[in-house]
Order: sequence, then C-alpha cells, then structure tokens
Amino acid sequence: MIRLSDLALPLDHASEDLEAAVIARLGLAAGELQRLAIARRGNDARRKNAIKLIYTLDLQLADEATVLERFADDPHVRRTPDTSYKFVTRAPADYAGPRPVVIGAGPCGLLAGLILAQMGFKPIIVERGKAVRERTKDTWGLWRKSVLDPESNVQYGEGGAGTFSDGKLYSRIKDSRHLGRKVLTEFVKAGAPEDILTEAHPHIGTFRLVTMVMSMRETIEKLGGEYRFSTRVDDFELETGEDGVQKICGLHLSTGEFLPASHVILAVGHSARDTFEVLYKAGVHVEAKPFAIGVRIEHPQGWIDTARYGPNAGNKILGAAAYALSHKCSNGRTVYSFCMCPGGRVVAATSEEGRVVTNGMSQYSRAEFNANSGLVVDISPERDFPGDVLAGVALQRRLEELAFKAGGSNYKAPGQKLGDFLEGKPSSEFGVVTPSYQPGVHLTDLAECLPDFVIEAIREALPVFGRQVPGYDHPDVVLTGVETRTSSPVRITRGRDFNSLNTRGLYPAGEGAGYAGGILSAAVDGIRVAEALALDLVGAAETA
Ligand code: FAD
Repeated sequence: MIRLSDLALPLDHASEDLEAAVIARLGLAAGELQRLAIARRGNDARRKNAIKLIYTLDLQLADEATVLERFADDPHVRRTPDTSYKFVTRAPADYAGPRPVVIGAGPCGLLAGLILAQMGFKPIIVERGKAVRERTKDTWGLWRKSVLDPESNVQYGEGGAGTFSDGKLYSRIKDSRHLGRKVLTEFVKAGAPEDILTEAHPHIGTFRLVTMVMSMRETIEKLGGEYRFSTRVDDFELETGEDGVQKICGLHLSTGEFLPASHVILAVGHSARDTFEVLYKAGVHVEAKPFAIGVRIEHPQGWIDTARYGPNAGNKILGAAAYALSHKCSNGRTVYSFCMCPGGRVVAATSEEGRVVTNGMSQYSRAEFNANSGLVVDISPERDFPGDVLAGVALQRRLEELAFKAGGSNYKAPGQKLGDFLEGKPSSEFGVVTPSYQPGVHLTDLAECLPDFVIEAIREALPVFGRQVPGYDHPDVVLTGVETRTSSPVRITRGRDFNSLNTRGLYPAGEGAGYAGGILSAAVDGIRVAEALALDLVGAAETA
C-alpha cells in the first residue's frame, strides 16, 4: 500500500471527489487505483471562507513500485507504515512465576493490565475506587447532591480520571512504534466509535468511555486477569537484598490483606496524594515537578464556532470548534488553555472533602451549550514551592480549600465574570453566559483563592486571546476555580529499565508518576511499562 498525505479538498466536497483528487495528484491512468482507505482526516481552518479537509490516504495501486519511484523526492508519497502491534514477549505455556500487580485502573493501568493479560501473565489489578457503573452514581452524587465519596469520584474508580471527560485521544508524544494505534484499536474493539482511528483529533465523550472500560475489563478477566475494586494500596513493603538493592516485595491493602508482589506497576494518577506520601516515607525516590494552576473559562460554543469557522460555523463535518491558546506574560509566566472541551460542561473534580477543583467533560456529540477550557499558569518547584518534595501537593490542597470557602463551603465553585475579573471586583450577577458547573457557581472574587501572579498573568492574557478568538474576552464570560489538577505535582522517577530509580520491581507509570499527560499518553506509557515488566518476568523465569 502507498500512503499519500496532505491531500487538501474543499470542506463540502462530494465523496467521489476524493478518488478524482488522488488520480490527479499521482497522475494515475484509469483502473490503476484499486482501493482507497482514509488513514486520517483533519482540517485547515486558517481561511474561514475556504476551509479545507486534509487527508492522509492508504492506496492500493496496480503498480506501486513505479509510483513510489516516480515520487521518490515527494515526502507526501511513501510506503504505508506497518502500524500493527507486535508483542515483545509472551508468558511461557508453563509459566509459574509471580503474577504482576497493577495499581490503578485508569488508562495507564488498564492498558498495562490488558497487554500483560494478552501476553498470558494474568495480572492482578488493584483499584481503590468502585467498578465504573457504581462509581458513576457516586460521581453524580457530588454533582447533583453535593455529597462527595472520597474513594469513588471523578478521580478514583474504574477507568481513572478520564472516564468523566471529553475523551480527547490525541497526544504529541513520540510514538515510533505506533503504540497509540494499538490503544485506539483496543478502544474500538471495546466499543469506541471507529472514527477515532481516522480523525486527526479524535474524542470519545464520557458516555461511551463507561461502556468501553467495562468491556476491556471483561477481556482482561477472560484472559485470567483479576480485578480488586474498593481496595486501596496503603503501604509498600520494601526489602534490601544482600546485593544492597532495594526491592518491592509486597503491598499492604486497605482490606487488611498483605499481597506479596515482586513486579508492581504503579499507575495511581495525579490525585493519589496519600499514596505519594506513603511512597516517599517508605523510601521510594520521589521528586517535585512543575505543573500548572488557574481557572476554567466558559463561553457559549456558538461564539467559538463563529470565531473559528466564520460562515462555516455549525457545519456537521467540522463539529464543535476547539481552540488552543498560549501567551508568554511580562511577569515571565506562560498562560495557556488546557483540556479544552467543546460543547461540554465544567465538572466538580475534587477527590478530597472540603476542597473544590474544576475540570471539563463532554459527550461524543459535543452538543451542550457551552465550550469550556482550563486557563492555567505554569508553576515550578524552584520558583513557587521550594524545599519539600510534597510541597506541590500542599499548595494544591491550600488553593482547593480556599476555593471551597470562596464558593460557600458547600461544593459550589467560586466564579466571577470576566469583566469583573479584569477590574478586580467581585461579581454579583450573571450576564449572557450561564455556567454549567454542578452543584452550582457562587459569584465572588477569584483573587480569594489564587496567588496574585496567577491572577495578573491571566488578566494580561485574556485581551490577547480576545484578539485571536473574537468574543473570548467578552465581559460576561464566566471563570470558575480552581484548576489545580493539571498534572502530577511529583515525579516518581524511573530508570531506563522502567524500574523506580531506587526500588527494583516497582514500575512507576502514567500521569501520577509524571510520565504522561492525558488519556492516550497514559495508555501508551502503560504498554511500555508492561512490556518492560514482562521481559523481566520472562528473563527471570528463564534463569530460574
Ligand atoms: P488515572 O486515570 O488518574 O488513574 C489512576 C487510578 O489509580 C485511579 O482510578 C485511582 O482510583 C487509582 N488509585 C490511586 N491510588 C491508588 C491506591 N493507593 N490504590 C489503588 N488504586 C489507586 N485527558 C485526555 O487525554 N483527554 C480528555 O478529554 C481529558 N479530560 C479529562 C477530564 C477530567 C474531568 C479529568 C479529571 C481528567 C481528564 N483528562 C483528559 C486527563 C486524563 O484523565 C488523565 O491524564 C489520565 O486519566 C491519566 O491516566 P492514569 O491511568 O495515569 O491515571
């Protein structure tokens, strides 16, 4: 097959135009093009009146060698890469070695568990939260009734932090082995829409994520894997061998059980603050790392669609418009949009009592009235929370507590209209933008719960963004806070062999360990770590 990339066609082209465009682009004779499949489709909306669809296509041609030779100097005509997944090893049929344990059933733990199960290792997956159906009820309990379950919520439970999300599935990670393709293929097998395999910016939406996660659990269990829900890892048993190397030898579970374990994937996500503390105290190498804090901003989706697509706003092929903005401020900080959710809602995303955190989600249709996005400012340990390794966690907690108080101490989010935010005065009534956050927004002054440099930076960035996306800085736009869980405040550092820097057998992975940011990158990291662990298990079995 030949891969032809960067083929541009008008937005509303007829389906037969695609074939004609390929024939013209490659100068093919009649009958030479035997099959055409779309590998990827994106759009170029820089000129709103002439939006183009940009295709990457896989073509079967009568004489591919000649065409490849003719276009040898053209970077957009290449042989189609082999993106199929190849297992790096398999458990021997008589494998009787230790069972790998995966802590956390988020995207990282899920893919790690799946790959291990597919290799024949029968992993045990330990998850502090509940199975996804029950967890959904608990999560809605906070949104509808202001009742938080600290062990079953937006952050904790089967599917991990991304389950109640927009389900965006793209990432800028380097992926020469096409592991992202393996993740998407498994998601489709589990019920995700097939277009995630071809869309340039795929997303699933929260509803499908729930059923998909259940289907993947069934697959893992059929292969001999085992789930333990409502089971938190409370402590890590480490021992130092005669070789002087610290190793993991087991896990103390919240059920009171001790689970012996020599190979453990630590995929606990960025909100497992108690687990970070326990790891650090046990002597596992943990470092503070940069993250970002700020607010969530909400606009009517129609404003964003018009700003982005002009007369083509509302076109079904384009769907609800997204944006990605960034501004380097005069105080040296960078303000950027984070986890933008077109046609979605702002959600209460705390996992701890007496704290308020915002985030965003949407359904596959992205048909809700508002667009929302994090608007965050970078912070670093050296500059903003020096000294203690866990000082970033303490900072997050402090800001989330201030937000809880500013919101009225009942899980409503503190909010402010953009015009008032710029003028530094509290808001008293909403304008044309109605916020979506449940259980509600309490109007106040967001300066009560964010550091001055964050407020200053966002104030500087908003008019700049307003020039790029007309309407972005309309005075009635609503800001809610606080956005603190943008990524992990720590890195649980690992070596080139994927083991913790100082603890053999412990494989830190995914977002919580500081090796991923988002569903797809966390899932890809889960595969990489599972492969390293499996190779070690097979090596150990062979030398035993
Ligand atoms: P997590 O998904 O956080 O999973 C960690 C799991 O470990 C949790 O289930 C937790 O309960 C469990 N756990 C923690 N501690 C323990 C313990 N001690 N014992 C046992 N189990 C434990 N990303 C995107 O790419 N696209 C999006 O659209 C998107 N939207 C988001 C919307 C929301 C509301 C949120 C909260 C996040 C969103 N994200 C999105 C981010 C994405 O969810 C994360 O990047 C991703 O889930 C990280 O995966 P992970 O497996 O590393 O960790």
